Amino acid sequence: MHTEFNHLPVAVIGAGPIGLSAAVHLLDQGYTPIVFEAGTQAGANLARWGHVRMFSPWSYNLDPAAAELLEQDGWHAPASDTFPTGQELLQKYVTPLAAHPDINPHVHLNAQVRQVSRLHHDVLRTEGRNTAPFVLRVSTPEGERDVLTQAVIDASGTYQTPNWLGAHGIPALGESAAADAIAYGVPNILGSRRNHYANKSVLVIGGGHSAFNALQDLVLLADQSPDTRILWGLRGASAPNVVRSPENDELKERRQLEVRIQELLEQGRIEVFTNVEVDAILQEDDKLVVQTSSIQLPPVDRIIAATGFRPDLSLLAELRTAIDPATQSPTRLAPLIDPNMHSCGSVPEHGAAELSHPEPGLFILGIKSYGRAPTFLLRTGYKQVLSAVAALGCTDIPETVQPCPAATCQG
Ligand SMILES: Cc1cc2nc3c(=O)[nH]c(=O)nc-3n(C[C@H](O)[C@H](O)[C@H](O)COP(=O)(O)OP(=O)(O)OC[C@H]3O[C@@H](n4cnc5c(N)ncnc54)[C@H](O)[C@@H]3O)c2cc1C
Repeated sequence: MHTEFNHLPVAVIGAGPIGLSAAVHLLDQGYTPIVFEAGTQAGANLARWGHVRMFSPWSYNLDPAAAELLEQDGWHAPASDTFPTGQELLQKYVTPLAAHPDINPHVHLNAQVRQVSRLHHDVLRTEGRNTAPFVLRVSTPEGERDVLTQAVIDASGTYQTPNWLGAHGIPALGESAAADAIAYGVPNILGSRRNHYANKSVLVIGGGHSAFNALQDLVLLADQSPDTRILWGLRGASAPNVVRSPENDELKERRQLEVRIQELLEQGRIEVFTNVEVDAILQEDDKLVVQTSSIQLPPVDRIIAATGFRPDLSLLAELRTAIDPATQSPTRLAPLIDPNMHSCGSVPEHGAAELSHPEPGLFILGIKSYGRAPTFLLRTGYKQVLSAVAALGCTDIPETVQPCPAATCQG
C-alpha cells in the first residue's frame, strides 16, 4: 500500500469465518489487522443458523492457514469427511480461532461498522484521494469513534439482510405488518421454534436449499405433531426440478437433501403451489393470506421466507465501488456468478482482479462478495482472502492473483 499510511492497520469488517481468515493472512503478510465484529461473539451469523447441517465437509470449511495456526497450539481438525452444523463450525473452528493468542488481540466484539470513507474525502473528491487513509465510523456500547486504516476488507456477510417475500424485490404489501408470523432464512423448527410451528399450517416460499432444509424439518415435526400442514410456494410455472446436482456431485450431502425432498414430494407430504409471485400478505381471522395475481393459496398460520439474502452496501456508500447492478457483486465477478447466465457448478475461477474496485485498498470478500447470487462456498472465500491480501501490496492489481476454485451450487 501507499507508504504515507502503511503504519496503519488493515480493517476487517466482520469476524465470521472469512473475516477471521483475513486476519490470519494479514498477520502472515506483516499487516496489523483490526477486526470489527458487530455481534457479542465471533461467528455471530453462524450462531443464527447453527442448527442447519452444512453440505460441505470439514475439509472444505477450514482455511488451511488458519488450521495450521490452530494446530501449532494443539488444536485437532475434525474428521475431514464429516459434515458440521453451523453450530459445530462455530464451536470447533471459529471460536478457537478468534480466541487464538495471535488473533484475539485484534478482534473487537460489539463493534459495528456504520460507515466507511476516506479521510477528508467524500465520494466525489478525487484530488489526493488515494493517499488518504480510510476512516471507519465504529459504534460500540461506549459510543462512536472513528478509526483510520490503510485498507478495508468487508466480510460482513448477508445473513441479516434477507430478501423480501414480495416478488418485486420490495416488501409485499402487508409484509412488514405480518412480521410476527414470518421467519426469514432457516428457523430452528425442531428446536427453539418448535412450538411456533407445531400443528400449524406453514407456507415455505423459495426454491433453494434453505427451503429444502425448512421443508425437511417441517416433515419431521409433522411426524410428531400431525396437524402440521406443509405448503411450498414456488415462483416458477412448473413443478420444481428438485434433484439438480449431478449424480457424482462433490458435495454428496447436498444431493442427498435434494433426493430426500423429491421422495417427500412423491409421498405427498408437501403441498406444492407454483406461480407464487407474492404481491400482498393479508391478515384475516388470525391467518395470513398470500395474494398473487395468478393463484389462490389457502390461508396459513406461518410463512417461512427462504428467498435468499442481499448485501447491505450502505456502509460503503462514500467509497468508489464497482458493483454490478443485477447481482450486487463486484462488477468483474458478476458475469462469473450471475444465476441468470450460469447454472450450478459452472462458476469459473476468480481472484483479486475480479474482486477489486476503483477504490484501491478496498475488497468485499466472503458471502457478501457474491451479492445476491446464492452459490458461495467457504472454500472459495478462503481463496479470495489469499488473493486479496496478496494484492494489497500491489500498486496495480494484476490480472490474476491466486485464482479461486470454482464455486458450486449452494442455494
Ligand atoms: C443456512 C446456510 C447454510 C450454509 N451452508 C454452507 C455449506 O454447507 N458450505 C459452505 O461452504 N457455505 C455454506 N453457507 C454459505 C456461507 O459459507 C456462510 O454464510 C458463511 O457464514 C459465510 O461466511 P462470511 O464470513 O462471509 O460471513 P458471515 O459468517 O455471515 O460473517 C459475517 C460477520 O460480520 C458481522 N457483521 C455484519 N455487519 C457488520 C458490521 N457492520 N460491522 C461489524 N460486523 C458486522 C456479523 O455479525 C458476522 O459475524 C451456508 C449459509 C447459510 C445461511
